[in-house]
Amino acid sequence: MRSTPIYEVHAVKYAHLPRKAWEVQINPDPHDADFPMDYFVWVAIPLDESGNRLVGGKPIVIDTGFNAQVGAKRGREVKTNPADLLAHLDIDAREVEDVIITHLHYDHVGNWDRFPKARFHLQDKEMQFATGRHMCHGSFRHAYEVEDIVGMVRVLYGNRVVFHDGDEEIQPGISVHLIGGHTMGIQSVRVMTRNGWLVLASDASHYFWGVEQNKLFSIVFSVADMLAGYDTLKKLADGRIDMVVPGHDAEVCRRYPASKPGLEGVCVRLD
Ligand SMILES: [Zn+2]
Repeated sequence: MRSTPIYEVHAVKYAHLPRKAWEVQINPDPHDADFPMDYFVWVAIPLDESGNRLVGGKPIVIDTGFNAQVGAKRGREVKTNPADLLAHLDIDAREVEDVIITHLHYDHVGNWDRFPKARFHLQDKEMQFATGRHMCHGSFRHAYEVEDIVGMVRVLYGNRVVFHDGDEEIQPGISVHLIGGHTMGIQSVRVMTRNGWLVLASDASHYFWGVEQNKLFSIVFSVADMLAGYDTLKKLADGRIDMVVPGHDAEVCRRYPASKPGLEGVCVRLD
């Protein structure tokens, strides 16, 4: 018998943005390479010993994306809300009980209102960052939407936020890990799969070139923590860099197969 439960893991893409190196890197590639950005939410679904979906197993959603209104305001198109895209994986957002929020940037916590039954798992430091003195600086503030932050405070007062401080298990086979760097309290998620530990870096490594080449993304709270974070991500994946999935790389949809026929470019299976 397996000691740790396993999960199938999917990335669900809900938006896309053409980007150049100078827009996303500190010390950009002098050849001005294209680094298109995709926007994802992720899902971990518990499996039984035979690799079938566990009867009564509850999916865990990681991040909730942004909606069409916020996308339009920020020049990013959302054709279908990510909460609705989950139906491709037979998941009803209204029934989801656990949502891990990697950090509170607008593209990770919008649509929190589409998950009315969920507990939201968040690092202490991220709430502190988004509601404290660092938000006096526009350069830290601009990737947050005040209505999302106020919304998360309302969810907190509804007793639906679970705070974590550092590394904690959410349930057997799935844990959160404080990384920092991109924001003060960004966390990554580690999930046991049929192929071993898979690490959903989220924006602890926006692109493969972060964790693979130690290159720096342009939105950063602490450069030192971002670099140390790349090492932590590799350690969490037992040194297997191919088991670290970045948060925004358009290459993800090319490296991984569609979750089901017909879902090419929308849902890819990561395990
Ligand atoms: Zn992001």
